[in-house]
Amino acid sequence: MRVGVLALQGAVAEHIRSIENAGAEGIAVKHAEQLDELDGLIIPGGESTTIGKLIRKYDFLDAIRSFSNQGKPVFGTCAGLIVMAKEIENGEEAHLGLMDIKVSRNAFGRQRESFETDLDIRGLEEPVRAIFIRAPLITAVGNNVEVLSTYNNEIVTAREGHLLVSSFHPELTDDYSLHAYFLEMIKTNHAALK
Ligand code: GLN
Repeated sequence: MRVGVLALQGAVAEHIRSIENAGAEGIAVKHAEQLDELDGLIIPGGESTTIGKLIRKYDFLDAIRSFSNQGKPVFGTCAGLIVMAKEIENGEEAHLGLMDIKVSRNAFGRQRESFETDLDIRGLEEPVRAIFIRAPLITAVGNNVEVLSTYNNEIVTAREGHLLVSSFHPELTDDYSLHAYFLEMIKTNHAALK
């Protein structure tokens, strides 16, 4: 199984390490043509306005949309979540607009820049150590979106079919369970495509 990590900006090496520890091949993706070789794609954390600009500049906008339209799994973490959302609060233009969620950027920012906590995530046996860094929150979800975890009653992990997002950074710890969950989504997708 080959999983790409969009390597325009942000926490790329950390995601590759987590993917490999979870048992798949991790590939840094710098050109849209590379998507053809992948079974799944991760959009990492970083700064969503910058990642959004680079996605447009390097012709990833239509390429990632078509990757997702083929039912291939996409996982966005933190800024990656923002880039995948159909709607961003405060009138900011959406980027890929893949997932039926509305997000608020830097939603914890004013109180706390960053923090860690243990989160129960639906579908995972053990709580996950979650690191939040100037994290976004999901403020509304469409009918087909499944909420996988909340923190203080706010949505921080969600799934819509082949799309997965987390507000926090699962790649910054030695806990690979959310990456393993994403690999399971890819396996299920493979089975469906056969
Ligand atoms: N605050 C960043 C943004 O709005 C996201 C932060 C992160 O990815 N850690 O893009």
